[in-house]
Amino acid sequence: MPDYSVATEALYKGDHLPGFGMHPETIPCFLTTAFTMKGFQEVQDTYDSKGYTYIRTRNPNRTALGEVISCLEGGEESLVFSSGMGAITTTLMALLEPGDHVICNANIYGETFCVMTQILKKCGVEVTFVDYQNTEDIAKAVRPNTKLIYSEVFSNPTLTLVDLRAVSALAHQNGALLMVDNTFTSPIAIRPIDFGADIVVNSLTKFLNGHSDAVGGAVTTTQALCDKIQSVAMLLGTPGDPFSSWLIERGIKTASLRVPQQMHTAEKLAKMLSEHPCVEKVNHPSLPTYPQKALADSMFGKNGYCAMLSFIVEEDKEKIDQFMLALKFPRYAPTLGGLHTTLSYPVLSSHAGVPDETRRKMGITPGMIRVSVGIEDADDLVRDFEQALAVFK
Ligand SMILES: *Cc1c(COP(=O)(O)O)cnc(C)c1O
Repeated sequence: MPDYSVATEALYKGDHLPGFGMHPETIPCFLTTAFTMKGFQEVQDTYDSKGYTYIRTRNPNRTALGEVISCLEGGEESLVFSSGMGAITTTLMALLEPGDHVICNANIYGETFCVMTQILKKCGVEVTFVDYQNTEDIAKAVRPNTKLIYSEVFSNPTLTLVDLRAVSALAHQNGALLMVDNTFTSPIAIRPIDFGADIVVNSLTKFLNGHSDAVGGAVTTTQALCDKIQSVAMLLGTPGDPFSSWLIERGIKTASLRVPQQMHTAEKLAKMLSEHPCVEKVNHPSLPTYPQKALADSMFGKNGYCAMLSFIVEEDKEKIDQFMLALKFPRYAPTLGGLHTTLSYPVLSSHAGVPDETRRKMGITPGMIRVSVGIEDADDLVRDFEQALAVFK
């Protein structure tokens, strides 16, 4: 069997159709709440073979999208959810029991943090938050009942990197599972399963759909864990709807074209910003000044590191406002991973609830701007940032 690239394989995945004797060039949208069965024999056979019955149980668009994601992530199976949060909460509900202990990266997506502190608490699960920069600190937090170690690849918005090889080794030595949120990076940049992760979640709302027009999430793991998660998803009612799944599948089919370009444009933009006299600091793993450069280079390949970056300018909210107004293309938006370059202001968005002193210790100041790089021509984007930075002169 010849070895094809993941990009090619993924393009031909997910053309999963119930046998209609037709061969559409791409998968149609199955907007149907159920599939009918003729007679008890067919009812029995359909249930026995885990065929298509009711929309919340299975739907061809979710199956198809799941196949594409499994191919991209290099996992056995994937389940598709109504949102990234649906994927995360359902997986935690399925795998944890009262009395279990979770170790979680202290700097994670805000809503995930709240799930850990509010929802898991209600379920009798204890969570310890640890700064993941030193794996020894994670090791110190391990208890006999530690079931799960949770992280993202890069922390938002400072792009602090987690050594997934070291953390997965630690998890497995202690009989725990490593669960990684790959939303910021996407499987186009990194496949956490290749580094030992047991479970990977993606918000499909971001880079994987990439078109800013649908919300969805996915979990990729073993068949056995997917079966467990699927039975809980059915009860929680978190599976994704067919139309979003269809839209996301259309979007994901160009991820291997879009995301590398977005990541390379981010490198060019980071380089210009790092050389600009009005910029104090730039956080992007492509830069020689990136504190974890050797680790980043050992984890990422030719596609690039990440299409997200952040930079710090003068702490002058008025000027930052003028800068955003002066930009021709990028817009302020509380999302990431779309076709357009978007900006966010962490002290008013992701880290609004964190006290100033704590934020500064994390490297987040009122001078920080976060950028999600889109598919604009790299030189156009760099020029646009350059002209807008004039407001700080
Ligand atoms: C957006 C996001 C989520 C949640 O995804 P939704 O699709 O909005 O539910 C989870 N993790 C990260 C890192 C995200 O950026």
